[in-house]
Amino acid sequence: LDKNFQDALPVLDIFEKNGFEAYFVGGSVRDALLHKPINDIDIATSAFPEEVKSIFKKTIDVGIQHGTVVVLFQNEPYEVTTFRTESGYQDYRRPDQVTFVRSLEEDLKRRDFTINAFAMDQKGIIKDFFQGLQDLEKKIIRAVGDPYERFHEDALRIMRAIRFQSQLNFDIEEQTFQAVVESASLLSKIAVERIHIEFIKMMLGSAMSKALSNFIEAELYRYCPGLAQSEDKLRKLAGFPLPIKSEVQAWTLLGYYLELTGAELVQLMKKWKSSNEISRQSKKTLQALYDRIDQNEWKAWNLYRSGQQAVIDTEYLVSGLQVSYDLKLARQLYSNLPIKSKDDILINGHDLIKMSKRQPGRWIGELLEDIEEKILLSELENNFDVLKEYSCHYIDQIDK
Ligand code: ATP
Ligand code: MG
Repeated sequence: LDKNFQDALPVLDIFEKNGFEAYFVGGSVRDALLHKPINDIDIATSAFPEEVKSIFKKTIDVGIQHGTVVVLFQNEPYEVTTFRTESGYQDYRRPDQVTFVRSLEEDLKRRDFTINAFAMDQKGIIKDFFQGLQDLEKKIIRAVGDPYERFHEDALRIMRAIRFQSQLNFDIEEQTFQAVVESASLLSKIAVERIHIEFIKMMLGSAMSKALSNFIEAELYRYCPGLAQSEDKLRKLAGFPLPIKSEVQAWTLLGYYLELTGAELVQLMKKWKSSNEISRQSKKTLQALYDRIDQNEWKAWNLYRSGQQAVIDTEYLVSGLQVSYDLKLARQLYSNLPIKSKDDILINGHDLIKMSKRQPGRWIGELLEDIEEKILLSELENNFDVLKEYSCHYIDQIDK
């Protein structure tokens, strides 16, 4: 058991001593099972908020109408949420009514994906009602219940599917992905701030390329500010070969691939409701990136104007851009070659002997090398009849 869970165990014990159930739930359990570092621990309990407050000496109300109370235990804050069901989803957004319940299973049922819908008790035993462990094992993101219904209840889950794919490098189960594709337009109902959070988590995930490709395939970009017309450019961004390490790097790259000026990037980020601080820094980094690519070196003035962080970020991004550019160019040039090896030449030694009625000898190798070179220089077409005609001339010459 992770140290973070160890420290929190007494909290679960206190619930139990008072006659309530309490479990670790959500991302921390998932990440612990994946041996990933865990973020904040979430606790779910059968105790109602007032009961939670009466059990613990120090609590803070953070969202009591949603059932969440922060419990301070040994100076550590723990988010404790009462088991609840949700109803009355209006406009494909968050529910406007939550009902507290005593059943763990009811609580887990409202959660988005099976890998986010199991609970762990004090002994480390996992309560898993939706085959979440199996999906975790198989590295699959699957909606709890009917994916269409779940995305209609809260369309943000569409983005969450993609961002978990990016963070975990999992596949999205087929029907769940089908529902992502068919529910894409519901994203237009979701507050841009919420989409923003998931979008950036997607960009920073280790499987960004895969996730962004699905984001494009499902046409989610059409419902994101300023991206509706940018399918091809986003596809190029999906080919960026390095992990993106910060939000500023993500926006800078987006600006670069969308071919925006610094000022245009700031406009875009305004639509996404980005903070002024991050916009400013992204603009600075984008300008540094353009300068760096144009001049292929740093001038004192550019270093000075950019500041240390933008210089570091720029250098990192440039290294990725170069790699992707060179690889792409090399791949393209290579695939354009008329032949890749001697075996691809459409005439061979046997053909030459047959048509010349000459004895085999050095002349065959010399003629084939001549043909090889001329094909590569585009002076000869790699076509049997063309090569035959050329060879006849060649043999006539040496026979003379
Ligand atoms: P992270 O590591 O990013 O915090 P997480 O899984 O903990 O991942 P949170 O957004 O912190 O994600 O949410 C905690 C848990 O609450 C999730 O694991 C999931 O069970 C549930 N949850 C969060 N958002 C939704 C949603 N929109 N619909 C259904 N369940 C959700
Ligand atoms: Mg979390």
